[in-house]
Amino acid sequence: MAVWLNEFKKNKNYLLCVDSDGCAMDTMTAKHNKCFGPSFVKVFKITKNTQNVLDRWNEINLYQFSRGVNRFKGLAQILCELYPKDDECKTFKKWTDEARELSEASLKKQIDESGGETFKKALLWSQVTNVAIKSLPDREKKAFDGVREALKEAREKFDIAIVSSANFVAVKEEWERCGLLELCDCITTQQDGGKAHCISELINKGYKPQKIVMVGDAFGDLQAAEQNNVNFYPILVNHEVESWKNINLTLEKIINGDPVDLKKEFLDNLS
Ligand SMILES: [Mg+2]
Repeated sequence: MAVWLNEFKKNKNYLLCVDSDGCAMDTMTAKHNKCFGPSFVKVFKITKNTQNVLDRWNEINLYQFSRGVNRFKGLAQILCELYPKDDECKTFKKWTDEARELSEASLKKQIDESGGETFKKALLWSQVTNVAIKSLPDREKKAFDGVREALKEAREKFDIAIVSSANFVAVKEEWERCGLLELCDCITTQQDGGKAHCISELINKGYKPQKIVMVGDAFGDLQAAEQNNVNFYPILVNHEVESWKNINLTLEKIINGDPVDLKKEFLDNLS
């Protein structure tokens, strides 16, 4: 059974870290098209060029190097693009650049300490988005084909940890509903800190970095892997099922101590 980071203990010599949204879960496009973007337009009362704003939201969050960025960082970016002279937007951006934890809890703490209309709206937007995601039909929130088989096979040699920047409740619900949670040993999400921090905490459980692989779909996943000198296996956007089908080849390489370098393939596919 999957446990929190604090409770988790190393069982095997190898560790597979896996991102959730857009990597194991085929959820990103629907969430951004139907929840994050429309909630932004609603809460921040965007009335001009609405479609352009929604398209820009999707570019930032789905189709550029910033794909998979934490929701509050994505929000800060679009706010600063729309309102470049607004001081409060700049303050919000600064918070997203500097805070160790980016979650509703840390945002609430920030609001208690210094207030700020943008911060309050950001919290409301996040909450409205959560409600919208919850009301998405289950068919819009499923795992990519092949994830279950891949994790099941990997689990013979690897401990499996979810490393996600989404919120804990959403991640747990999705993985449980898709029957994947039983294949995981540890869950780390936004309240544990950023992905790089979570991987470093997992290394502290006793794994050698070369025996760890981070499986992800976004540039931030690659960066988190590089910062910790662990292997990176990309789930390529629009080729997700194929990527999951081929992961065993890379896991074998890691077990054999052979080098893994899929960075170029990943970057070429994203840009
Ligand atoms: Mg992702």
